[in-house]
Amino acid sequence: MHCELSTTGRLRLDTAYRCPACRFGRIAMMPLMEVMACDLCRHMFDVDLTKQEVKMNGSLPPLSWRWNGRTWHDPFAQGPNRLDKLVALAMLVFPAALVGGLAWRFGPPPDAPLAWLPPLWTALTFTCHLSCVLLAVCSYYQFSPLAFGKALMRRLRQRLATGSS
Ligand SMILES: [Zn+2]
Repeated sequence: MHCELSTTGRLRLDTAYRCPACRFGRIAMMPLMEVMACDLCRHMFDVDLTKQEVKMNGSLPPLSWRWNGRTWHDPFAQGPNRLDKLVALAMLVFPAALVGGLAWRFGPPPDAPLAWLPPLWTALTFTCHLSCVLLAVCSYYQFSPLAFGKALMRRLRQRLATGSS
């Protein structure tokens, strides 16, 4: 289904909107169903026209967004709260700072054969903890970077094909 992307007016089933979950795709009504689906991240949304809301299908905790006439609004503050962000920041900073600090204080002399190992270990510590935090964020929003990347590549190929013909 191809229809123009709406940025004004009330939420309607016959209009396409920017996807509130991935912010890149377009959600539009699926034929013969009363749900909207994103053409990029493939999330499906139940639509409540009286409340002007969409609710991500099968999300736990339930994620929903309200259409305010121009953009999606998060009326329930359903994203990570301040404590979640502090825990994520601590999980990123403290282990890498501990490993890096110990490597700096008790590390081998610069001309030792394995002098490159402590900085690499510090970087690996940070990278591993960063991947844990990103995994938690992706899991919360039910976002698959792999599927998103594939859909993005498919869209780019389509644009290149239609642009060249
Ligand atoms: Zn999407």
